Amino acid sequence: MQYLPIFAQLKNRPVLLVGAGHVALRKAGTLLKAGARLTVVATYFADEFIEWQQQGKATLIESRFEAHHIDGHVLVVAATDDDAVNQSVFEAADVRNILVNTVDDQPNCSFIFPAIIDRSPILIAISSAGTAPVLARRLREKLEAILPAHLGPLAQLVGAFRDKVKQKIDGFAGRRQFWERVFDSSIVREVQANRLDVAQQQLEDLLEREIPTQGEVYLVGSGPGDPELLTLKALQLMQQADVVVYDYLVSEPILQLVRRDAELVCVGKKAGAHSVAQEETNNLLVSLALSGKKVCRLKGGDPFIFGRGAEEIEVLLPHGIPFQVVPGITAAAGCAAYAGIALTHRDYAQAVQFVTGHCRKDGVEPDWQSLSRPNQTLVIYMGLMKVEHIQQQLLSAGRAATIPVAVIENGTRADQRVFTGQLSQLANLVAEHQVQSPALLIIGEVVALQQKLNWFGDRPDQQAQQPLTTRI
Ligand code: SAH
Repeated sequence: MQYLPIFAQLKNRPVLLVGAGHVALRKAGTLLKAGARLTVVATYFADEFIEWQQQGKATLIESRFEAHHIDGHVLVVAATDDDAVNQSVFEAADVRNILVNTVDDQPNCSFIFPAIIDRSPILIAISSAGTAPVLARRLREKLEAILPAHLGPLAQLVGAFRDKVKQKIDGFAGRRQFWERVFDSSIVREVQANRLDVAQQQLEDLLEREIPTQGEVYLVGSGPGDPELLTLKALQLMQQADVVVYDYLVSEPILQLVRRDAELVCVGKKAGAHSVAQEETNNLLVSLALSGKKVCRLKGGDPFIFGRGAEEIEVLLPHGIPFQVVPGITAAAGCAAYAGIALTHRDYAQAVQFVTGHCRKDGVEPDWQSLSRPNQTLVIYMGLMKVEHIQQQLLSAGRAATIPVAVIENGTRADQRVFTGQLSQLANLVAEHQVQSPALLIIGEVVALQQKLNWFGDRPDQQAQQPLTTRI
């Protein structure tokens, strides 16, 4: 970290500005907004400075800069159009250990001004440490666009209630829950609609009411692995949860996005290795929620597609534990897209089936005839262990040996691998490339287009393409 971002309280504190042209004017405006007691040294003053002096906002000293002008100031800004003067301001401040900014001259700065998004009292400061100011400005524009204007009044309103809430609710966890309820409530909409008195009344009512200690469960699909495929809602709930209960399919970059102080509980390991029994997971969710926690049950893909999501929700019902379900991009959709396979296509496939390669507990086989119909795409989850059996059953049921197939390992992730061939080679592909879990099998005519539509990762005929992590 090249700079420490801090927010300095400048109200009534003496700040020296050297220079009074148009560059200095911008800095003066920012400093005055922050309430600084401004002294300006210059040989010539733009009209605005004269006005500020008349309004008692700034003291003007008509003089060439001299080192002693710095004495008694907490910050100094050099903004003249003369490099030599700016340099001497920097040196004079620096030997006195007073922070100094020389406008547009980063080496001669001991502090820099960030790009600011002002929703006072909420402030966001962005800096590229002087390396890419245009990029910083673009980021600011993006953030400006997504941050609602009512953030400021909202923060002001809750700020006025902080002491009351502290008196009424004991403990950090309880208070955090209370504030989260506030930000989820209609109070936000009232502030947005500028009905501040209604919002204030609602806030008071909420505080008077009994604060429920019951927790809740969010069953959240995290998609196949690329964190950018998370939904906004998933991200929001991952940030709200006290505890995140996840299994092995949830990728590491996604876990990085969980609220920093949330407890993380892993309940699943790779196939074959020990994993927590489903019943234990169910019980864990219930007991965490009953102890008042907000529990995010984070699952790979979509929670209701081979995710046992329904089982985990069913156990909550007898306890009356509130829950929400957030869909995720299921592996079939995510892996197919990132491998360049259109699951349906007017010329090749009019239907798509998602099936599990795991046999049912009672050993009953799936309907291989139906899975082998032409002009449909078959996506097999959890098919690695049974790949030979799957290949053989599809062939026996009449699927052509030449039908194209794809095996996608770690789909949508940086280490995604895709292997294609024909149905007669399916098990071989898996063995030859030592394909590991998680992997998906896709069988059907549409796979023939994969060579053309493939876009993610290395392509022999094109420069490597990766999705832009953040398009700015
Ligand atoms: N609920 C999940 C599926 C869970 S079953 C979903 O909707 O995607 C686990 C199986 O999903 C794995 O065995 C594998 O077949 C498939 N899978 C999940 N993520 C995958 C990924 N990133 N790449 C390839 N296959 C994946």
